[in-house]
Amino acid sequence: MTAHSAPHVGRITVAIASGKGGTGKTLVATNLAVAAARSGSPVALVDCDADAPNDALFLAPDAPQASPVEVPLPVVDESACTLCGACRRTCAYGAIRILGSKVIVFPELCHNCGACVRVCRPGALSERPARVGEVEWGSVGGALTAPAGVDVVTATLDIGEVKAPTVIRAARKRAAVFNRAVTILDASPGVACSAVAGVRDADVLVLVTEPTPFGMHDLELAVALGRDMGIPLGVVINRDGAGSADVTAYCTAQGIPILARIPFDRRVAEVYADGGLVIDEHPDGAAWFGGLLSAVRELAEEEA
Ligand code: SF4
Ligand code: SF4
Repeated sequence: MTAHSAPHVGRITVAIASGKGGTGKTLVATNLAVAAARSGSPVALVDCDADAPNDALFLAPDAPQASPVEVPLPVVDESACTLCGACRRTCAYGAIRILGSKVIVFPELCHNCGACVRVCRPGALSERPARVGEVEWGSVGGALTAPAGVDVVTATLDIGEVKAPTVIRAARKRAAVFNRAVTILDASPGVACSAVAGVRDADVLVLVTEPTPFGMHDLELAVALGRDMGIPLGVVINRDGAGSADVTAYCTAQGIPILARIPFDRRVAEVYADGGLVIDEHPDGAAWFGGLLSAVRELAEEEA
């Protein structure tokens, strides 16, 4: 791992979220991470979009390491089972059933709480580790991010698995070990459990939206989520000028600060499609993301 020794003050966790996919969340998270590192703050960028993580396509870490994410799954020893039914009665999630003379565990429903194992007096239930995904991490440094660096931590849910929040929590735990001055959480789109796992306990929530009717609708849901969770929030309008929805009027009416505007610009789309960094490859990129970094810090300080 790269040694990040640049000076910095305070620590801040910034969640980047959106009510729907495709609004530019990855664009904002990756470029903001570089802007923060260049300001002298060591950064951990956590890709919490476990169904389709892609931050590492833009910031490719050197020599990444990986660790599986496993959950304890109950298994039945049929030879010891008396079919007493205690496990079925105990499970609050309907994840363990008795069908005929068999006890069956449904992994997709199981919350891995261990309660059924504890109530099984004959000792017919035990737990085995079951893989649901993986966390990968590595550092990006050198001229790209100097004077500090970016640790990129990626949560990836295995195909066919459903426990994205578990994998996201594991990735955030890994990032917490780095204890960087700035942690950026690139959350899952939407407002479901995986999005909540990605933004929980953030100091600031940055909601990326686009000025379309769909963007507006989903922004309102994301604002409701952020407010329910008590996280100070602001909005980035991506593709500003492209659509008909008046995000500015909505934010003004709601008292929500607009932290940055990224215009509807062919060059932005080209750079992003090529896996490049807009902060470097668009003449206004440094100003956009430097300005966003300042606005995020101001919002955090106002709410501190
Ligand atoms: S609690 Fe144990 S013994 Fe009873 S039905 Fe469940 S697995 Fe079988
Ligand atoms: S571990 Fe918990 S959730 Fe899973 S089957 Fe047992 S009681 Fe149900």
